[in-house]
Amino acid sequence: MAMIPCRECGETISDGAPTCPKCGIPSPGGQARLEIKRASRLMGALVPLNVWVDSNDMGTISPGNSISLTVAPGVHRIECQLLQGHNKGGAEEFHVPAGKHLTVNVSTSKWNGAPIFSAE
Ligand SMILES: [Zn+2]
Repeated sequence: MAMIPCRECGETISDGAPTCPKCGIPSPGGQARLEIKRASRLMGALVPLNVWVDSNDMGTISPGNSISLTVAPGVHRIECQLLQGHNKGGAEEFHVPAGKHLTVNVSTSKWNGAPIFSAE
């Protein structure tokens, strides 16, 4: 975690702080955007990929599509699983800095369906 100034009072705070300990405003580092993009495939792979962010169900994404959400700055856990058969799920944590837009690309293993994450 990085230390950043509060956007209201300038107090040095953690970029993951939900509220400023000095002035009390929410998201003192400013909001951040998180985009989760699913890789497109040349063949098949029409199985929906379900996505969870910090254990909240975000629904499914089809190949080549993405979902985007506003998050508090800080570390967020992204979990993905293909909704068919015995595909393996997987999760990884990403740090989303205050005021930034982080894109995380997700592809799936052709061997066991396990998600492979990479931040742009
Ligand atoms: Zn403040």
